[in-house]
This record gives sequence, structure tokens and C-alpha cells, in this order.
Amino acid sequence: MKIKERLIEGNRKYIAEGRRELREQTALHGQHPYAIVICCSDSRVIPEQIFSSAIGDLFVIRVAGNVLDNHQLGSIEYAAAHLGCKLILLLGHTGCGAVSAALSGHGDGFISYIISDILEAVGDVRDPDQACRLNVQHGVNKIMEEFSEHPEMPDVQVIGAIYDIQSGEVTWLE
Ligand SMILES: [Zn+2]
Repeated sequence: MKIKERLIEGNRKYIAEGRRELREQTALHGQHPYAIVICCSDSRVIPEQIFSSAIGDLFVIRVAGNVLDNHQLGSIEYAAAHLGCKLILLLGHTGCGAVSAALSGHGDGFISYIISDILEAVGDVRDPDQACRLNVQHGVNKIMEEFSEHPEMPDVQVIGAIYDIQSGEVTWLE
């Protein structure tokens, strides 16, 4: 099967599997996601599955290395201030290629922007697990700083967590 055909077939299956009512309801009456999730683009990290979520449940922002710049912050702002999400989860994961690239100093072109953000977060740390945590913590801190004075987001909680790509478990950072 050609690659595009695989996508077409996948969509056919998706439609055939149902969920029509939920799609109609959210299309007609709008979305009210209960949480914002910022996570890596890694194909093994699928928030909707990790948290057993349905259409309209999660407002997901995915970017390699779960780094944050103004586009991601704008997306967070939209979901928190306009859709009413009260919880922001920054979700890192084990075996993150972006974190590994940062630690080994490999990454040219546009990837270098991602790597420099991760390096800023991890400093001199070269242990992948510790670096992953620091990268998540850095993102959590950044969100809290950027929105600390935001009048429409006074009671929004920001938390960090790490997803284990092998066991499927989420470890919550305190
Ligand atoms: Zn990753």
C-alpha cells in the first residue's frame, strides 16, 4: 500500500468505526476540553490514548522535544482563556530523540532551535532521564512565568509529567 493510500484507508476506517454523535455534538456546540496537553511529536506519545480520551477532551499541542515558543504559548492562551481549560500538563517522555540530540550536540538546520531550548533547560546535565525532567520543569516554569499576570487565567494549574514509552505509565512531577 502506498503511503497516501494508507492515510486514506485509515480515515475510512475511522469514519466506519462510528463516533458520529460526538463529532456532531462538538462540531455544532463547540469544544470544551478539560485539559491542555503539551507533548512531543514522537509517534509513540499519543495523549488521547495515554489518557483514554475522546473527541473534545484534550487540547493537544505537539512539538518535538515539547519545547515552547510564542506559537505554543498562543495556543495555551487560547485554550485556557477562551475555552476554559483549567489544567495545563506539560508531558515529556522517556527515549526522547530531541533530548538525546541536544545532549549529544547533534542537530542542524531548524532542529537547532529545538536543541538550543532544551540545552537552556538542562544546563550541564547529560543524563537523559534527568535532562528530560529538567526540560519538563523548564517548560512548566516558563508557562507559569508567562501567564503569571494574565487576568483571564488566574486559577489555571500547570503540572509536569513524564510518560514511559515502554510501560505506558505517567509519572507526575511535584
Ligand atoms: Zn520526544
